[in-house]
Amino acid sequence: MTLSNSVFQSIRNWDNENFLHPWEGMAYLGQNERTFAESGLGVHVVTEDGKRLIDGPAGMWCIQLGYGNTEIADAMAQQAKEMAYFSPFNNANSTPARLAHEIAKRTPGDLNHVFFTTGGSTAVDSALRFVQFRNNLLGKPEKKIVISRQKAYHGSTYLAASVSGKERDKGWLDQASHLTRFLPNVNPYTRRTDQTVDDFLDEKIADLENMILQAGADKVAAFIAEPILCSGGVIVPPLGYHQRCLEICRKYDVLYISDEVVTGFGRLGHWFASEDVFGIQPDIITCAKGMTSGYIPMGACIISERLIADVSGDNAQNATFSNGFTYSGHPVSAAAGLKTIEIMERDGILEHVRAITPLFEERLQALADLPLVGDARGMGLVGCVECVADTEADNLLDLDKSVGAMIDHHCQENGLILRPIINMCVFSPPLIITEGELNEMFDILEKGIRLATDDLT
Ligand code: PLP
Repeated sequence: MTLSNSVFQSIRNWDNENFLHPWEGMAYLGQNERTFAESGLGVHVVTEDGKRLIDGPAGMWCIQLGYGNTEIADAMAQQAKEMAYFSPFNNANSTPARLAHEIAKRTPGDLNHVFFTTGGSTAVDSALRFVQFRNNLLGKPEKKIVISRQKAYHGSTYLAASVSGKERDKGWLDQASHLTRFLPNVNPYTRRTDQTVDDFLDEKIADLENMILQAGADKVAAFIAEPILCSGGVIVPPLGYHQRCLEICRKYDVLYISDEVVTGFGRLGHWFASEDVFGIQPDIITCAKGMTSGYIPMGACIISERLIADVSGDNAQNATFSNGFTYSGHPVSAAAGLKTIEIMERDGILEHVRAITPLFEERLQALADLPLVGDARGMGLVGCVECVADTEADNLLDLDKSVGAMIDHHCQENGLILRPIINMCVFSPPLIITEGELNEMFDILEKGIRLATDDLT
């Protein structure tokens, strides 16, 4: 849709005056100059002034199959015409039932009960509420503490935000702090200079065990972890980290919740990363975003048969898991989910991601040689460059904190959107990206970093 300048100016005003955006910087409310995009095709979006940009973060890590996918749009339209909605509370519809089955076929181990939600936060919230429900039923009402990690992001409901560990987000909103504990940063890049990665890993595992022991194993209900801490800056923990954390959890009867809201549905070249990439079968997996390729909101919390057995049948004591949403398993979202799975399978998208990942990693690693870049890290099709003021000293502190936004600005001038996070830029392009488009993305990114470096010197 092309808008005239005057119409567009009114819309920009409405956006500033009436649309309170997520993570709104309230000091600058109403003064934002956001980029508007009104259409998109493949890996590109087209801005209001006609600029075609590669969407580096795939929306918000979600547009797996790119923009303008008419097959998904048609599947949603068809479902809306036939049966837009039917209450999932006492009744059922075949589309979400089929999607639950398709998901259960692709999950690790015995994770076969799919609780549909409206997005990632509600998936995490539901997982945490299920854990509380189970422990209440098992007669362990004291076992409620959830261990999370610094820099984790798990969402924006009260409980999901409470287990999120990004300090910057904690200042002004209340948290259920009595239920949470946070482990220190697991980024090997921040390890002491005298520490090997193996020593660092041992320390992180000891941190988890000590935290459980300190709180008391009878009080700790669950450990929640993203396979890669994505919003926290694409932090990839050392090899073996998740397996060893799971061993500790098993030792102390602590449930393992793997938050795959970003990593699920192909981002690392597999349906789910927990087992296929990190070798673990968690007790609960949460997912969202990519499950509908971002075309419509949907999330899920997938619970193992073992946990469900603890709270059902004779063990249920007549209890109801009184947690759910009007739009749990919305048929139109489910239609988008089914079509996403069908296309990903038919077009070999997981294989494509695995095939293109070495190029992504090679180009990413090359950025680490730029003077402004302290660390370039990633996995699958998720990457991050972290800028430092002095790469010799790895000095983060003296750096202009808005350097991520500066790089994004230069990249947008040259055809690429990024996700700036303070001194970092994060990107996770649509999974359908071609080799040529990937090279173009990294060429523009490199140029953007060089231009930001010039601004700073
Ligand atoms: N969990 C993780 C790992 C996420 O990255 C996010 C969002 O970025 C969420 C949960 C929350 O998902 P949503 O924004 O769909 O509620």
